[in-house]
Amino acid sequence: MESDIKLAQHNPFVDETHNPSLISWLKSANGHPSFPIQNLPFGVFIDAEQIPRCGVAIGDFVINLHTLGLQRIFSGKAQIGLEALRETCLQRFMSLGREFSVAFRQALSNALTDGSQHEMAVRKALISSADVSFCLPCQIGDYTDFYTSIHHATSVGKLFRPNNPLLPNYKWLPIGYHGRASSIHPSGIPVFRPIGQTLNADTQQPELTATAKLDYEVELGIFIGQSTESFEPVCIQQADAHFFGVSMLNDWSARDIQAWEYQPLGPFLSKNFISSISPWIITAEALAPFRVPPTNYQDRPEVVNLQSNENSLLGGFDIQMTCHIRTEQMRHQGIPAFKLSQTTFKHAFWTIAQMITHHTQTGCNLNSGDLLGSGTQSGPTESEAGSLLEITQGGQHPIHLPSGEKRFFLEDGDEIEISGYCESENGLRIGIGSVSAVIYPPKNTKPTQTIKPAASSDSALCHSDPVAHLGE
Ligand code: MN
Repeated sequence: MESDIKLAQHNPFVDETHNPSLISWLKSANGHPSFPIQNLPFGVFIDAEQIPRCGVAIGDFVINLHTLGLQRIFSGKAQIGLEALRETCLQRFMSLGREFSVAFRQALSNALTDGSQHEMAVRKALISSADVSFCLPCQIGDYTDFYTSIHHATSVGKLFRPNNPLLPNYKWLPIGYHGRASSIHPSGIPVFRPIGQTLNADTQQPELTATAKLDYEVELGIFIGQSTESFEPVCIQQADAHFFGVSMLNDWSARDIQAWEYQPLGPFLSKNFISSISPWIITAEALAPFRVPPTNYQDRPEVVNLQSNENSLLGGFDIQMTCHIRTEQMRHQGIPAFKLSQTTFKHAFWTIAQMITHHTQTGCNLNSGDLLGSGTQSGPTESEAGSLLEITQGGQHPIHLPSGEKRFFLEDGDEIEISGYCESENGLRIGIGSVSAVIYPPKNTKPTQTIKPAASSDSALCHSDPVAHLGE
């Protein structure tokens, strides 16, 4: 406790907007479990005219920033920010950079504080959050998925290499691969079970079939704010300036398609059919009180370009991440969702700043609105495993649900919900939001097809050597 207070005193990111005793004139904001005045996350909702509008969540309401922007209530950088937020997505505001995000947050916090002269102006822009639906918060140009959880990497590695689960590069660099941005969808969009090529275990022949090993991945989605320049690596001290905020991310995966396709270039169709994100982006500023030192793992090599004092002191984030399942039968019987796991992002081996620095090391530029996936987040204990691949040990040990059903992997009608929140010892709690989706049968169902192998090289094709890792 004492060390926490000492740390908080030295957390330069914390300011008056994080004061737990700050009270809003909007009653539903005070004590709200997700959206108190200390949070102020950004999202894009559809208004009554079916036009996308930027909004901020506060209590049980959304502030329509297009409406708020009609009144010139801010000044300086905060007003420039508000004007950028009158567009139909967050891109331009995100591109302005940290100084503008900080200025806008301070101005909006003041306007929402009890006794503010701007109460009437903000009231005119309030919409009940029950009346709105959400779309993607920005144009996600590129999506990169990392593998930052050492617990996930270790437990998945153990399935293949019980004595040597971590590959030799793991502690030297944040492993990642370039993913697919076109199929990132907002929460609520159904997941149609993908059809792809898998290896039939009995015949040892590939066939085109609906995946039998559909899985979820509990991840944090990390949004890039200000763009970086081509051929200009971002040093670790500067990386945080490009971090805009986070949402919850479910990186749906088809493990049987993955097992057959992933060597030698990594996952492809097994992860490109859909990734789902929660509606709100919780800003780097809102997350300030929940910055923590990264977990002190043993045998961490000294990688000079990925280390800094700032990163060692406050590079981690204590973000709680929970995952629930509710099957069709559970819904019919009125059985509440069943918790599959809970962990925190502070267990990640690599930090957000390290991901950004490593990504740009060769000169690759990051653009405003780009999304980085944290990789499946698992913690040190069994109840913290962030995918069915880990929980069922690759489909060997089923999960038993309160309905009497069991699961090795996901079945049609199952709903997966991943949600997040941060809580501090001084009583401050903010929600990260939640992402959920229901699984449906394949959209265009076709019978299973065995693929006729080429006359010659057929047998060599079908001996997949499971040496490396699934997951991400
Ligand atoms: Mn992933």
